Amino acid sequence: MSESPRSIVVIGGGFSGAMVTAHLLRRSHDPALRVTLVNKSGPLARGVAYGTRHSDHVLNVPAGRMSAFPGEEDHFLRFAQARIPSTTGGAFVPRTLYGDYLGSIVEEAAQQVPGRFEAVSDEAREVRWNADTSRARVTLASGRVLEAEHVVLALGNYTPSNPSLPDPSAFASARYVRDPWAPGALANVRPDEPVLLIGTGLTMLDVALQVASVARSAPLVAISRRGLTPLPHRDHGAPPSYGHLPPDLVAGEPSAVDYLRAVRRHTRQLARAGIDWREVVASLRPVTSRLWQALSTRERARFLRHLRPYWDVHRHRVAPELWQRFHALRETGQLDVHAARLLGLAEVSGGIDATFRLRGRKEQATFRAGWVINCTGPEGDVRALKDPLLSSLMADGYVRADALGLGLDVDDSLSLLTRDGTPSPWLSLVGPLLKGTWWEATAVPELRVHASRLAARLAGSA
Ligand SMILES: Cc1cc2nc3c(=O)[nH]c(=O)nc-3n(C[C@H](O)[C@H](O)[C@H](O)COP(=O)(O)OP(=O)(O)OC[C@H]3O[C@@H](n4cnc5c(N)ncnc54)[C@H](O)[C@@H]3O)c2cc1C
Repeated sequence: MSESPRSIVVIGGGFSGAMVTAHLLRRSHDPALRVTLVNKSGPLARGVAYGTRHSDHVLNVPAGRMSAFPGEEDHFLRFAQARIPSTTGGAFVPRTLYGDYLGSIVEEAAQQVPGRFEAVSDEAREVRWNADTSRARVTLASGRVLEAEHVVLALGNYTPSNPSLPDPSAFASARYVRDPWAPGALANVRPDEPVLLIGTGLTMLDVALQVASVARSAPLVAISRRGLTPLPHRDHGAPPSYGHLPPDLVAGEPSAVDYLRAVRRHTRQLARAGIDWREVVASLRPVTSRLWQALSTRERARFLRHLRPYWDVHRHRVAPELWQRFHALRETGQLDVHAARLLGLAEVSGGIDATFRLRGRKEQATFRAGWVINCTGPEGDVRALKDPLLSSLMADGYVRADALGLGLDVDDSLSLLTRDGTPSPWLSLVGPLLKGTWWEATAVPELRVHASRLAARLAGSA
């Protein structure tokens, strides 16, 4: 095999897979390099996030921070301004525009190198290494087999799993929506039907606004254990600075609670000088992966158990205008958000009865919903996934879950680690499944760096 692979199959055509592909096509000077991008659902280069056509779904990162290329900060801004001239760096533009942007990047890169790129709409079901040919065989759902010297997994966000309940029978109801991002999932929800949203994070906010985009006569109710809802970005044009890192984050053995205390202290101190808490959260961004990696597995687990919901609402914020509309839904009584524990769902004629216990109360409450929509977000534990490709890769020992099941184990160069911890010479990973190693691996500002680094290594230009 040559030092740099000449045939590469990228599995997953969302942001991560699309950008690895574009970088490979742009960078490689090897005229023999062939790249095949396999994507199982939705249009290429959009993934779950940018596949929406709903105008209420806007980016939750300002346009000035959404360039797909590290080091070319205003690349997306220029694209957006060519279509919507009034767009500023601090604007939150429709996600569908971002999908168009990614599509155009792949298309342009492919046009530069005719005959070296193929897009395949299919699902990769199995990947096996053939030591005799020094090639991987990627078997697709259609039965087609692709051969490649290197395979990149860019599998992205997984479908949400059902909440854990003693009686799961209501999940089979046509009035239960397991994945609100599936095409047409919300199409039959009528404005006169009460809706229960399980989960109160970003997915719930998007779904609530979508469902309430036509005047409703029936209530929307959203529940989660703590009832925490997303917070808004600051309401002005400039993105936050990175200059307000707490000075005493690590004193002695790193622990999640020490991080929290240092952040709180610093935030309070800055607030007295009129500086917004978002500046501190933004300043943590460039060092978050280092802070995460400094924690022991036990401390990471503690963070996930006790602090994550609070981190999520402060870190994953929404566009101010969306938040205003969400707030208005609550103020006008169209949406009720409760801190509550879901105890059961039971299908009844024309709907589903949900039983829950409000936080701090002993008695149970019941809500008769016309629809129950699962807004718990992408499945976060790879060990719980029933995905044919991942299951076969794990069973064959080509990959292994990280210690907390947030994703798959990799080394610093994004090579996947095999069951015994050896870096794979032919299998690499980009995207949110890097979370266990880097923690910050869900949004474009980090994913673009991973995609670029991996492509540079594979193209032999790292
Ligand atoms: C609703 C939503 C909104 C978001 N908004 C933003 C935002 O505004 N800004 C931001 O920075 N981040 C946002 N994100 C975070 C988002 O995770 C990243 O920005 C990015 O889109 C992740 O891209 P990805 O390619 O890694 O994963 P995905 O977008 O999930 O793409 C993975 C792709 O792989 C395909 N696939 C999976 N398995 C297989 C298989 N076996 N065979 C073939 N194909 C397969 C899937 O069909 C999918 O198309 C959002 C996420 C969501 C869910």
